[in-house]
Amino acid sequence: MSDKETVTTRGTLVIDVDACKGCNLCIDACPPGVLVMTDIEVNSRGYRYPQLLAGCTGCKACSQICPDFVFQVYKYDTPQEHTS
Ligand code: SF4
Ligand code: SF4
Repeated sequence: MSDKETVTTRGTLVIDVDACKGCNLCIDACPPGVLVMTDIEVNSRGYRYPQLLAGCTGCKACSQICPDFVFQVYKYDTPQEHTS
């Protein structure tokens, strides 16, 4: 038995941080909730921007909703398992 949690990650993102205008649309659009805005860090335009946690499914909801084409989504051929 183990109380460790296993997270499956099926995709990843390239995030064009400086293209982000901090509108937050992607945060609510991500079904597994694996996008979080930075707390303090801002991009070159002064906006907070999203960061990716483990557990992306590669669903592309973020890239479809983002008005500024910040995301490129890639799906892994083989899902990755992370134990936290
Ligand atoms: S591809 Fe889907 S799961 Fe991954 S960060 Fe974007 S919205 Fe979230
Ligand atoms: S939807 Fe696009 S512009 Fe808006 S916060 Fe997310 S990455 Fe930035």
